Amino acid sequence: PPVVAVVGRPNVGKSTLVNRIIGRRQAVVEDVPGVTRDRVFYEAEWNGQPFTVADTGGWEYGVKGLAAKVADQAERAVEIADAVLFVVDATVGITATDEAIVAMLRRSNKPVVLVANKVDGQSQEADAAALWGLGFGYPHPVSGLHGRGTADLLDVLIDTLPDEAANSEALVARGPRRVALVGRPNVGKSSLLNSLAGNARAVVDDTAGTTRDPVDELVELDGKVWEFVDTAGIRRRQHMASGSDYYASLRTRAALERAEVAVVLLEASQRLSEQDVRIIQMVLEAGRALVLAFNKWDLVDDDRRHDLEREIDLDLQHVAWAPRINISAKTGWHKNRLVPALETSLASWETRIPTGKLNSFIGELVAAHPHPVRGGKQPRILFATQSSTRPPKFILFTTGFLDPGYRRFIINRLRQYFGFEGSPIEITMRVRE
Ligand code: GDP
Repeated sequence: PPVVAVVGRPNVGKSTLVNRIIGRRQAVVEDVPGVTRDRVFYEAEWNGQPFTVADTGGWEYGVKGLAAKVADQAERAVEIADAVLFVVDATVGITATDEAIVAMLRRSNKPVVLVANKVDGQSQEADAAALWGLGFGYPHPVSGLHGRGTADLLDVLIDTLPDEAANSEALVARGPRRVALVGRPNVGKSSLLNSLAGNARAVVDDTAGTTRDPVDELVELDGKVWEFVDTAGIRRRQHMASGSDYYASLRTRAALERAEVAVVLLEASQRLSEQDVRIIQMVLEAGRALVLAFNKWDLVDDDRRHDLEREIDLDLQHVAWAPRINISAKTGWHKNRLVPALETSLASWETRIPTGKLNSFIGELVAAHPHPVRGGKQPRILFATQSSTRPPKFILFTTGFLDPGYRRFIINRLRQYFGFEGSPIEITMRVRE
């Protein structure tokens, strides 16, 4: 769900308003100075639209003056937010701290809904009107305490949020999944494609008005249409001997660019070649979902395979998360295993972890395994958010640089806990001193 940051200086009534928005179920604890709240994200809903409330009240103070501190805290939340509720105390009016927040909000370019809080009755309406001076349009008069005006406020808020429903419909309606079949020459790409597509089977694209690249091929598998990209490159027999590697790799890169998921074909009875490793690396760099298919299984000598297995495992350690299938393009053996593997990888590739869930996971992990102390300092993770899908990317907001080892630890635990089978995932840090 979209994230709404609630920002404002202390005592303007943020917690009360947040409680009002999220309902009693998961009430926010009152501010205790110097105490960090363990939760800053709350799931909420209005008119059937779910959203996440990021409450900035509990975040720690830096070392600067109060106005700057408050603005700093708010900035962290705003950075990850889709919209901002800027809460001002109408009975007090505009203070220097409010001005500091205004400056930060302007820089952020995020949609801001101005809340004139503590308008408990008619008599404070005039106070609210004075907040026009902040330059964020209509100051929505609200009483967080009594609930006055909050319904109107939420209507406006929902209107400013990105339309996720439209987005997810677009996802469903976007047509066949695009698959890149990649691998070094003679590994069996063309044979597999033939085996999947059947001999003379042509799937006609009846979507009116679409111009589909003719190098792509639509193939129906298990009652669903899949689009295999750049099949022309696969079907064309490569007569060029040396020197063609470069073009093959360009072609692979271009295919990956247009695909959502890659099937990397490998020879089951051989160790990974440098070229195999390079091709897998290309898939990772392109950020595509991945399936590893060991082909020519009909040629595998079971005794030898056993020894090979260890070596292959070592070579594939960095993609141990990818589903592996054993197939024979020639006999068609296990070709029905391809679709489930594709579906698994694509589902992981599009997974979105709710912010609240992600942060309770990180919170527990960090409590049980704190970052080692380095030079008297111990970097802490303030919170985490998933910034995108396809593939999943995460941002960790920290108080210092995390050791590479610790970063790997977090990634491993993320995978252990949430899966992501078949999808690369990425973590970046935002360091705030
Ligand atoms: P591409 O260059 O990756 O498209 O590979 P091809 O599909 O042209 O296959 C190269 C050679 O490997 C051909 O002689 C195929 O018949 C053979 N081949 C492909 N898949 C298999 C398989 O599963 N088993 C066996 N035994 N041979 C295969």
